[in-house]
Amino acid sequence: MSTLNDLRSIPITRVAGNGKKTLSSYQALGVETFYDLINLRPRGYEDRTSRVCIGSQVPDGPWTNTIVRVQAKSFFGKGLKNVKITVRDTLSGVRGELLGFNRPYLDKTIVSGNFYKLYAYQIPEFSHVPRFSRFELTALPDSFSLTENSESSISGGLRPVYPLSGNLTQNMVRKHVALALKEIPTLENDLPQTLYEKYRLMNLDAAFRALHAPERAEDIRQALRSLGFSEVFYMQMMAMRRSSGQDGAFSRRPVVPQVYEKEKQLTDSLPFKLTEDQEKVLSEIRKDMSQQRSMNRLLQGDVGSGKTLVALIAAVHCISEGSQVAFMAPTELLARQHAINAAKLLERLGISVAYLDGTVTGKARSLLLQNLREHKIDLIIGTHALFSKDVQYAKLGFVIVDEQHRFGVEQRRALFAKGQNPDVLMMTATPIPRTLALTIYGDLNVSTIKTMPGGRLPVKTFIVSPEKRQAMYDAVYVELQRGHQAYFVYPRIGDGEEEEESSLKDVTTMYAFLSERYKPFRGELIHSRLPDDEKIRILDQFNSGKLSYLVSTSVVEVGIDVPTATCMVIEQADFFGLSALHQLRGRVGRGTLQSWCFLAPGDQVSKDGMNRLEVLKSTNDGFIIAEKDLLLRGPGEISGLRQSGFTNLRFVSLDKDLNMIAAAREEVSRILLADPGLLEADHAVIRRELLELKPF
Ligand code: ADP
Ligand code: MG
Repeated sequence: MSTLNDLRSIPITRVAGNGKKTLSSYQALGVETFYDLINLRPRGYEDRTSRVCIGSQVPDGPWTNTIVRVQAKSFFGKGLKNVKITVRDTLSGVRGELLGFNRPYLDKTIVSGNFYKLYAYQIPEFSHVPRFSRFELTALPDSFSLTENSESSISGGLRPVYPLSGNLTQNMVRKHVALALKEIPTLENDLPQTLYEKYRLMNLDAAFRALHAPERAEDIRQALRSLGFSEVFYMQMMAMRRSSGQDGAFSRRPVVPQVYEKEKQLTDSLPFKLTEDQEKVLSEIRKDMSQQRSMNRLLQGDVGSGKTLVALIAAVHCISEGSQVAFMAPTELLARQHAINAAKLLERLGISVAYLDGTVTGKARSLLLQNLREHKIDLIIGTHALFSKDVQYAKLGFVIVDEQHRFGVEQRRALFAKGQNPDVLMMTATPIPRTLALTIYGDLNVSTIKTMPGGRLPVKTFIVSPEKRQAMYDAVYVELQRGHQAYFVYPRIGDGEEEEESSLKDVTTMYAFLSERYKPFRGELIHSRLPDDEKIRILDQFNSGKLSYLVSTSVVEVGIDVPTATCMVIEQADFFGLSALHQLRGRVGRGTLQSWCFLAPGDQVSKDGMNRLEVLKSTNDGFIIAEKDLLLRGPGEISGLRQSGFTNLRFVSLDKDLNMIAAAREEVSRILLADPGLLEADHAVIRRELLELKPF
C-alpha cells in the first residue's frame, strides 16, 4: 500500500525517460511526478467499445470503429506526397476513402486485399463517399478471416484523451500513465471510511484506475464523482480550519462586545432605524474586532442594502478604541461620495475625516500625510492612493474596502502591510452564490445583508420591444414631470479606441434626441472621457435635482445614491453582463418611491443576451442573479473566482457539482465541530492528508 502523497516524490522520468523535450512538455502541463501524472484528467474518452460501421449514423460524433478490406491506393496532390486509400467496410459494405496528407509511407505499409481494423474521424463533406483524414489502420493477424469477424476484434475499449502540450502525443501519455499505474502499489483511501459508505464513493485506488482505464462509461462517472468529492472536501477543510484559526476556535467563549457612546450617537442621529440584518452584521463585526486575531470579513449585500452605513458605524467603533481607519473605494468618484457622506455623519461626533486620491498633491498632500502620521486624522477615505509608499499611519487598525472584487490581489497585499494586522472588511454588491461564498474566500468570514431597508418598493423591470420604445420615453417623461429623475445608460461596445469613439457617438446622438424630446427639462451627458471635476460637477447637479436626467456610458455603475431617481433606461441592454445590469438597476429604487428599470435590447439581440434580460426581469434578488450568472457564463468568468483555488480544481465542475460541493462542505463542518483537533481514529487520514497538501 502507498498513499497518494508518496507519489509526489516519484519523478515521471521513471516512465517517461530523460528526454528534455518530453519533460518540458509535461512541465507545461504541470506534470512532474507520478502524483501529477495520475491526476492528469483526461479531456474525454474515445469510445471504441462497439462496432460503428462506415456509413452508419452516429449520434455523438462522426467516428467509425470497424473492420475494412483495402481495395485500392493512389497518390494525389502536388509532389505526390498524399495518399488515398480506398476501403470497404466488411459489414456494411460501404466504401470509404482515407486521406493521408503528407504520409506517402502509408502506400508501402498498407497492403491491398488485406483486412484492417479502422478507427477514424470522418471529414464533414459533400461527397457521397465518406472521407476520413484522421484514422488509425491496424493490421489484423494473417490468420484473420471473415468468419472470425466478431465484435471482440473490434473493441478497443474506452481510451482516455489527454490534454497535450509540446511534443507529447496521445499514445505517449497513454503509455506513460499505464506504466505508472502498473508501478504504483495499491493506493490507500484519503477520506474517512464512513464517507465512502455514506456517499458510495469508489475507493481511491479503483477511482484512479477507472479514470485512466475505464471499462464502462459508468466507471468514469463514478471515478470523477469520487475524486471530486475528495478534492472539494480538502479544499474546504483547509479553508475552514484557516478561518477558525486552527486553534480550537469552536469552543471559544462567547464575547459580548462593547457598543461605544459615539456609535449610539450616530445611530440615534439617523432618520431611520437600522434593519435587523444591519444590526446582526454589526454585532458580528464588533465580535470579530474584540478577538485577538484580526478580522477578515466579506460583507455582501445588494446595492442599497445599507452596507456603507454599517461600515461607517464599524469605523466609529474602531476609532472609539483609539485606532485609525482607512476606507478605500475603487474610483475617485465613489471615494469622494463616501467622503462627503462620512463627513456629514461623523464630523459632528468629533471625528476627523480626510480625503485622499491621486489628485491631492503638493503642500496639501504633505500636510495631510503629516496629520495622518500624527494621528490627527481618524478616518481617511480615498482610492488606492491610500496605500501608496509614502502614506504612513500612526495606528491603522481597520481597513474598509468597497467593491472588493475590483481590487487585485497585489493591491490588497500592499494594504495589509500598512498596519499591524489591521481588521479588514470588504464590501461587495456582486454576491457570489451562497453555496460557494465561504469556500472561495477560504480564510474570510462572510456576512450577508439580505433585506433592504424598509419602505422601499421593489424596482419594476420591463423588457422594451422596439415598438414600445416611444411609450417608454413617454413614461419617463411623466416621471420627470413629477420631479423625479432618470438615467439613460449606454454600453461601451468593444475595447478599442474606435469602438469607444463609436459608443461615444451613440450616447451623443441619444443625448441630442433626449434634450429635444424632454424640453424644458435639463439633462447632461457624462462619459469616461470627461475630466473628473467635470463629472463631479454634473453628479452634484443631478444629486441636488438641478438636472432631471443623465445620459451616460456605464460610469454610473456603482455607488451613486440619489433617492429621487426613479427611472433607469438601459439601451442595448443585451450587451451588458448580468451583474452589471443588476448593479445598474440598483441605482434606482433607493428611496421610498416606486422605480422602474427599462431594458431596451439592441436590434440583433442574441439568445444569451435575451436570457440575461429575462433573468433580470424575473427577480430582484442579487443572490439568485449571481447563481444564474454562474450557470449562464460558467465559473471562469465570475469575478473573484479567478483568483481562487476553484480554478485549480481538476475533478469538480463549479456549475455542475454544486450539490457535491455543498455535501462536502457539510461533512467538513460536521467533522470540525465534533472533533476540531481531528484526533479521532477515523480522522487520522485527514490529519495525514493535511500535512501534505499545498495551500490552494
Ligand atoms: P450600499 O452601500 O449597500 O449600496 P448604502 O449604505 O449606500 O448602501 O445605503 C443606501 C441608502 O440607504 C443610503 O441613502 C442610506 O442612508 C440608506 N439607508 C441605509 N440603511 C438604512 C435603513 N436601515 N433604513 C433606511 N435607509 C437606510
Ligand atoms: Mg455601496
